[in-house]
Amino acid sequence: MTGWALGPLHDVLDLIEFKSLSVQDALVEWRTDPKRPFHPGLAQWTEHAVCGYLAASEQIPAVPGLPQGESLEPVSRLWARQRSSQEPAGVDWYEEMVTDRRYVGHGVRELRVVRKGSVTDHPRDESEIAVAVGVLAGGSPVLTSRWERKRLRLGRFELPRLVRLVEIGCVDASHRILFEGTPEEAYARYDSDVEAHIGTLIAGGSYRPGMNCGRCEAVATCPEVPSRPGLLGINGSDLPRRSWSMTTGRTYGKCPARAHLEDMFLPREGSAEDSEAVVRGKAVHAWIENRHRRTPQQPCEPEDTPGSEEAWQGEGWALAGLEARLGIQMIGDHALVCPLRDRPDDAELHPERPVVVYDPDADVVVIAKTDLLYRMADRWTLREMKTAKRLSKEDLLEEYPQLALAVVLANAAVLPGSESCTVELERLTGTGPVVTDLEAAAPDVLAQARRVLKKYVSSWHADIRYPTKAGKACKDCPFTRWCPDAVDRGGT
Ligand SMILES: [Zn+2]
Repeated sequence: MTGWALGPLHDVLDLIEFKSLSVQDALVEWRTDPKRPFHPGLAQWTEHAVCGYLAASEQIPAVPGLPQGESLEPVSRLWARQRSSQEPAGVDWYEEMVTDRRYVGHGVRELRVVRKGSVTDHPRDESEIAVAVGVLAGGSPVLTSRWERKRLRLGRFELPRLVRLVEIGCVDASHRILFEGTPEEAYARYDSDVEAHIGTLIAGGSYRPGMNCGRCEAVATCPEVPSRPGLLGINGSDLPRRSWSMTTGRTYGKCPARAHLEDMFLPREGSAEDSEAVVRGKAVHAWIENRHRRTPQQPCEPEDTPGSEEAWQGEGWALAGLEARLGIQMIGDHALVCPLRDRPDDAELHPERPVVVYDPDADVVVIAKTDLLYRMADRWTLREMKTAKRLSKEDLLEEYPQLALAVVLANAAVLPGSESCTVELERLTGTGPVVTDLEAAAPDVLAQARRVLKKYVSSWHADIRYPTKAGKACKDCPFTRWCPDAVDRGGT
């Protein structure tokens, strides 16, 4: 099953641009290709995205100097250029390449960068723009495969008279011209925005494991992603490598299709509103996280709260009345149990740090979004934080399955501090704060954590079709627009 939301879009556009098929014929050919099984939600999105791309392309103003009635021709080869560098140490040459959609004609080179969402709210990335226009001005066609991990072989260079970089938003057929100018202007842009940062751009500083690791070809050998065979307790499937997080597991329980569309990061639509309690929980989390990110770091104080309903609203949270007051009380209570309260100078805090680990037996990349990882002297702790009006008497691992994942990760020695990393739960309630040590190293706790985790992983792992579970799950689903089975939100 295709797992990249823009892959099919490029396949269909290739059929239109290089095999001269009509939009309808290209979509039919793509849909009926037995080598490319696709999810019905992905098919619906692709159809929309193709039409959005083409409509936006028609709206782009003509390139200056193009004869009346003429248009640019699509180009199948990628463009790249090879550069030499003294910086950073150890790197004497590197390659810059552009993908996306490429067009030429009458001395013009144009690159159209495809976005899933709208370009109107897409932040401008000046370094990305500068690299792209540098390649547009000085690049040559790529003759060899970019996956060979060898130096690329490049074709003949032809100097353009004008280069243009356009961004296209497929969801709403929007476009934005990011750059238009002569090669000299493009080089000048490159020089000012890229050369100054080339060390960081090439070396990247480090590997940064995160939400995209599931799509990375190199994750199995990445030095920053530990490999733990048997972590999930299931064996491999014939499916391509996938990534899994607690969100995947929870969403899968509501509707398998929704989990699949979420994993592909398809554009979302304003979903049904969160309940007041959910908004309050998110607001409390965000407030405390911001306090923990202060530099120099300092403990949260009891009076360090939003203080009023208006202050919540000023921070963008729709909280009022009882929930607003409860949220303020919870933040004040957190000061009593803040990890920094005793020895702030001897602590290290990492709020919202993703932890990524690869299980080769299941062929799954597990991504855990931890609330807070912190070190006090030489002792590391993972703390999950929950807000609840009252304390429940349920089994904690059952009630908060991400704690089960945390216990499993702690025992697999993938958290900082290795196997001695402790796991704790901070509950902020209407009657005060409670911090509970999960005793992650105890065999019965680990066994229970594995049982809970399996419930969320095994049926997802065995699934190859991600069927829809239309009904209740559609009510707050942000992907109903792409789902052929979605029931009307106003209905049942
Ligand atoms: Zn704190």
